Amino acid sequence: MSVVIHVPRGAEEIIEKLNDHGFEAYVVGGCVRDSLLGKEPEDWDITTSAKPEQVKEIFGRTIDTGIKHGTVTIMRGRKGYEVTTFRIDGEYEDGRHPRSVEFTSSLIEDLKRRDFTINAMAYCEQTGLVDVFGGLKDLEDRRICCVGNAYDRFTEDALRILRALRFSAQLGFGIEKKTETALRELASNLHKVSRERVQAELTRLLLSKRPDTVRKVFEWGLSPYVSAAFAEMDAARISINPQLPAVKHMRWAACLRQLSAQKAAQVLRELKLDNDTISRVKILVEWWDQPVGTKEADIRRTMSRMSPELYDDLLEMKELCAAETRGEPFREGTRNFVPETPEELCDIRHHTETIRTRGDCISLKTLAVTGADLIQAGMSPGKEMGHVLERLLELVLERPELNTRERLLKEVPTTISKKPT
Ligand code: ATP
Ligand code: MG
Repeated sequence: MSVVIHVPRGAEEIIEKLNDHGFEAYVVGGCVRDSLLGKEPEDWDITTSAKPEQVKEIFGRTIDTGIKHGTVTIMRGRKGYEVTTFRIDGEYEDGRHPRSVEFTSSLIEDLKRRDFTINAMAYCEQTGLVDVFGGLKDLEDRRICCVGNAYDRFTEDALRILRALRFSAQLGFGIEKKTETALRELASNLHKVSRERVQAELTRLLLSKRPDTVRKVFEWGLSPYVSAAFAEMDAARISINPQLPAVKHMRWAACLRQLSAQKAAQVLRELKLDNDTISRVKILVEWWDQPVGTKEADIRRTMSRMSPELYDDLLEMKELCAAETRGEPFREGTRNFVPETPEELCDIRHHTETIRTRGDCISLKTLAVTGADLIQAGMSPGKEMGHVLERLLELVLERPELNTRERLLKEVPTTISKKPT
């Protein structure tokens, strides 16, 4: 049966132009895989027998994206297409990067250097599908299988270990037996991979439709090479509801929630996640097993501890994860955790709505008294003033009707350090 892939016009134009100049060119890798799976590929990569200088000469305007590895980008409309010369990777020097790359005129050689059979297919309209490693069969059988000898492939580049797991999570594929055995035996090679790359693959795995695949990282002995604190987790207790929004902080928080907030943040710092995500995860993990409260005052207090968006994320996380957590042993050093029932969470949502519609003060921003007011009332700026504002906020969280300037100023202690007169 001949396979037909609908290649976008831009990529087709590039391929035709390269053909007109006597070169071979194909779409290759992820875009072929995704097309065959009936998914719209995010980007279309092109592989060609033309050398980078020749590609540049033919197209005039190109961007040197990865010129060292033979990649230039060609714009078609607003879309960029990466065009890479057929290449053979030289010796791998550090378990991650080839010492050199060599250009070749053989497509098959280029396909050989790719990681998995499903990623090692090329296509062009004239030739049709080029599938020399059984990628199509593996797609049908839903499995991830290395191109060639799995031990060699994971030894060359240990990032492929995590790529295998990530693709398995994204596609819902199994991992072929020899590939799995090699992957487990070579787990320790992961220490050669930069923390950023480890993080990027794990994040993509967690954002996939099957985030629980992360348990395999533990079952297959990879976790110590991710981070020591990460490896402390109990894999059996990891449970990430795939209905959780696929955003970094929520998925990572759900994944790490059995750790203390400090430990969770430590894992993410080691993995070089951005500070914004780290601080959000820290708050979610910290609050996720603390009651929001059922009375309006308690709810306002919880709301005041984080941004409105993060508070909504917290409620969603509680709604989607609490059920699975019922009956879990509590993590060390925390009070007994009794997750809110769905009914309680429903009430909390309702109260939250009321608090927001009424516009109750839940932060210093909407407190009726500001630092300037306190100075005017005779206080010196400084730490003490901050404490007073915090105390006033606590008061207002308890009794929102007190949030007027006049009323609050009456609460300001008269004994506090007044400006010398
Ligand atoms: P996605 O973009 O959805 O992650 P992809 O397959 O396009 O999937 P890329 O990282 O964009 O993945 O890489 C493009 C292609 O380059 C892959 O399909 C594969 O053929 C090859 N490739 C990428 N990384 C490696 C690697 N570490 N080892 C071998 N081949 C690789
Ligand atoms: Mg890609």
